[in-house]
Formats: sequence, structure tokens, C-alpha cells
Amino acid sequence: MHLSEVLARIDGRSYAAYRELAGRFAYPEGELVVERVQADPFAPPSRVCFRLAANQAGFPAELFATASRRVALADYLARRAARAAQSLGREGRGRVVVDCGGQEVLPRNSLRVEADGAVRLRCAVELPAKGRTVLGRRALRLLEEDLRGRVAGSLRYAALPREELARWVYLADDRDFLRGELERRGWVAFVPGGAVLPRESGRSQRPMAGAVAFFPPPELAATVRLPRAGPVRGMALPRGVTLLIGGGFHGKSTLLSALERGVYDHVPDDGRELLLTDRDAVKVRAEDGRRVTRVDLSAFLAQLPGGVETADFATESASGSTSQAANILEALELGARVLLLDEDKSAGNFLVRDALMQRVVAKDQEPITPLVDRVRPLWEERGVSTVLALGGCGDYFAVADRVVLLEEYRPRDATQEARAAAAAGPARRSEASGFPAPVARVPCRRGDDPGRRVSALGPDRIRYGREEVDLSFLDQLVEPGQTRAVADILRRFDADGRRPLREVLVEFLAEVAADLDRCSPQGVPGDYALPRLYELGAAWNRLPDLAVAQLLR
Ligand code: ADP
Ligand code: MG
Repeated sequence: MHLSEVLARIDGRSYAAYRELAGRFAYPEGELVVERVQADPFAPPSRVCFRLAANQAGFPAELFATASRRVALADYLARRAARAAQSLGREGRGRVVVDCGGQEVLPRNSLRVEADGAVRLRCAVELPAKGRTVLGRRALRLLEEDLRGRVAGSLRYAALPREELARWVYLADDRDFLRGELERRGWVAFVPGGAVLPRESGRSQRPMAGAVAFFPPPELAATVRLPRAGPVRGMALPRGVTLLIGGGFHGKSTLLSALERGVYDHVPDDGRELLLTDRDAVKVRAEDGRRVTRVDLSAFLAQLPGGVETADFATESASGSTSQAANILEALELGARVLLLDEDKSAGNFLVRDALMQRVVAKDQEPITPLVDRVRPLWEERGVSTVLALGGCGDYFAVADRVVLLEEYRPRDATQEARAAAAAGPARRSEASGFPAPVARVPCRRGDDPGRRVSALGPDRIRYGREEVDLSFLDQLVEPGQTRAVADILRRFDADGRRPLREVLVEFLAEVAADLDRCSPQGVPGDYALPRLYELGAAWNRLPDLAVAQLLR
């Protein structure tokens, strides 16, 4: 059956007749699949797929030879399809939406490139209506001319600017190589010379125009030979404890934010496309008011006034320091290898208790062991590195492996000066030694199942049963598509009370990484982006009424 025949038949009938569209329609250049039809004009839009077999898409095998190239190619195609879809809206031809990202290159299910070079585009389409009746001819124009012709048509290799496409796809090779170098050479991050770190504004992740380009300090500079771009010199941050210091407004937080985002890949011309950070780096903030369920906080928090134990701690509303301690311990539980902290976003009493305070407030009257006393054993005993952006707190000089000083956005190595200052300055006493092994929680099934009432409410909020869960403190949750994926994975989350949280979440993620459609039980939405283990875990950690079977010490 042809699409035109179905639409001619249902033209002018009530909107529900659009259901007859569900199915597959073959064209010489690909197949249009109507996967889900909206019940009425005001319901969430219908989902339509366009599939091009490898020979129909026509991409040379080189362009999809590796998994990373496929992700980059798919990302590029998703953006093209999204632009073509937007132009339809502007011309008043109808509403078609293709999910595509911001500055990050991520696996998404709006557009997939298969290992054999086949391409699948999935979009949301509002099927046209007049009142509540079917507009058959307009629907035909929208699906056949516009979606098939213009949107899907923009994806064939023959229609693409080859140089731009090659640049986009082969950047993936350089990133793969550089990520391997981070691992081999023991770096937490690499920031290439010439990188543009500041963004356009707080609301836009596009590069700032006219920014001072990054210039690596000679003491920390290293050169990598990338397979495509050739030699690139940049700042290599070794593992261990690193401080980013400098006066206010000299670019500390900007550098730290760039490192946070370096766990992801970026589009060409982003300014950070070769700025890479260990994928297991986690930003940890103070998050006054967050819920904490059964976390062993004893590394940072001894018994609280009133005899509250902290080895199995829970609260509906944590303080600044407690929340930051929980954020760190939960990240470690999931396997974080690098912690990223900004003094701006941290609790002061969590970072340090300085020499004067030590003199006046007795140690046994202070339940908090500040991070400054744990950050070295965390590295030396647990192999977890820390990068801290600091403007006011020099007590970390005594525990740092290296200190990068930013002056008007230009970094230089100030390790020796900082060491000398620490040796001469007022000494605080260390208040702890060692870092206990992180405890693994074993989740089990919740008593009441919120079932279908779990959904993303926006880029950083999810609805979970009757409650809203705030994810706005997760600086590394970067796309609404990730939040949607997180919400739908949590909706399906189940555990048998026998395996540790990390194992359960890794398994869920492996399943959806293989096919993002599996986030949803119906497998239809086309607007998921792959989240990281850490943000998925962080969302789980903030849910109400978590059921934890036991703690493995
Ligand atoms: P700090 O954390 O040291 O106080 P920020 O990182 O917040 O400083 O930077 C202060 C301001 O300088 C921000 O508005 C930021 O966008 C801008 N900025 C940061 N780096 C650069 C740069 N390389 N070129 C131009 N402006 C920059
Ligand atoms: Mg700052």
C-alpha cells in the first residue's frame, strides 16, 4: 500500500483514522516507518522513522569503520536533519522535530548509523489536522515531500559537503588516540594550546568570541602526535592532587568547567574539541538540601551531636558539607577516578579547618574531617586524583602535587612558590590519616513501584511518582536527552538485592548503550542521549524511598 492511498482514504475523517498510517512504506531511496500515531492533535507528536540501507545512504565504509566514527557521523547527520526539520517549521509546512545535541557529540537515538552503514532517522511529527479531522493532502506533503524528500534526503552521502563531513568524522580518531594517551601517560586531562575555554554566556555553551586562547605553561607542556591533526602541544595534568589558583575573575572556574565537560566529546570549532578529561572524572558540589540514603560518611563525618551515626547515614535534607561528602562518597562507590571541585561551589567547612580555628574549636567538638586532610590519602591509597579550583584557601598548598596559577586566563606553574609559602606559613595540624575503602550499597526492589509516573520534567528535573527530583547540581548532565534517558532507565530500574549498585547500573547502561531505544519499554521515543554512569547513579541516589538491602564494607 502506498502512503498516498492510505491518506486519500482517511482524508477528512476523524483524527483517530490516522492510526491506519502505522506501518512501513517503501521508496526507492529508503523506507518510511510510522511507528506511533498520536491519538489526537494535542497529544504528544507521532513518531516516524526513515531507514536508509547502506547502499541507499551511500557512505564509504571508512566513514563508519569504528564505533567512534559512527557516533560522530550520526551526530553530524542528526544536526543536518534537525536543521532541515526546523526550516520546515519556519516555512509553515508543518512541525517535525529531530533531537540533536548542543556542543557535545553523544550517542543518540534520533539518528543511528549501524555497523554496516545503514542509517536510521527518527523524528517527532505533528500530523496535520483541521479541528479534529485528518488533512490527508497536507499530511502527504509533510511526510512524503518534506520528511522523506528534504529531511531524510539531506542525509544521503551524495548530498553532503564532503570536507566538512570528513573533518567531523575523523576528529573521532584523534580523540580516541588522545584518550588512549591520557591512560598511557597517566594524565587526568589534556588542554591543547589554542583551546577556547570560556563560553558565550551562562546560558550558551557556544565558544566566547574574542576569548584569550589557552597557552600551556612550559613546565606542564607535553606534545602528543595525533593521527590526523599531527603534533599538538598542550597542558597535561598528571594524576594526583592539582590546584588551579589565581585571583577572582582570572579564569579558574572557566578552566574547571572545561575539564568537567572534557569527559565528553565536542563538535569541531567548539574550542574544546581536543580538550579531554578522564571519562571517570566527577564534579562534586555542595548541595544543601539534597536527600541522602544510607551512605557511609565516616571518612568525612564522625558521630554527630545527639549521637547520630554516620557510617550508615540518611537524611531528607543534608547540609552543605554533608551533601558534598555524600556526593564524593557516592562517586567513589561508582568508581570515580578523578574528583573536580570548585571552591565557589563547595562548603567552606568541608574544604578546611584552618590553624586558628583548630586552636579555638577543639578537635573532639568538630565532627567534620575536612577534605584537605583526606585528599592525599585518597590519591595515595585509593588512586583517586583531585583537581581543585581555589581562590581563598591556601591550606591546600601543603597537600598538592602541583599548583597552576592563572593570571589573566594564562596558566603558569606555581608549585614551588606554593610549597615555599606552605613551609613558611602558619601550620595547621593534619587531623586524619588514610582513606577508608568506599562502601558498596546493594539496592533492592522498592516497596511501592511508581511505575509509569516517572518522567523527565525538563533538562535537570525528573518526576518520580509524587515527587520531583532535582538534578540541577549535576554539572555533567549536559543534555535534556540524557535526563530523559535517566528518567526512563530509573522507571525500569529493578534490583534483586544481591548485587552492588555499580554492577546493576553498569548493566543497565551497557544495555542502553548498545541500543538507546531500550531506555523505554516501548522503544519508540527518538530523543534519548546516552548518560554517564555517574549521572545515572546520582539521579538514583536522589530518589525518595530508596531500598537498600545491605552495605558491603
Ligand atoms: P574565577 O573562577 O577565577 O573567578 P572565572 O573562570 O569565573 O574566574 O572567569 C571570570 C570571567 O572571565 C568569566 O566571565 C569568563 O567568561 C571570563 N573568561 C574566562 N576565561 C577567559 C578567557 N580565556 N578569555 C576571555 N575571557 C575569559
Ligand atoms: Mg570561580
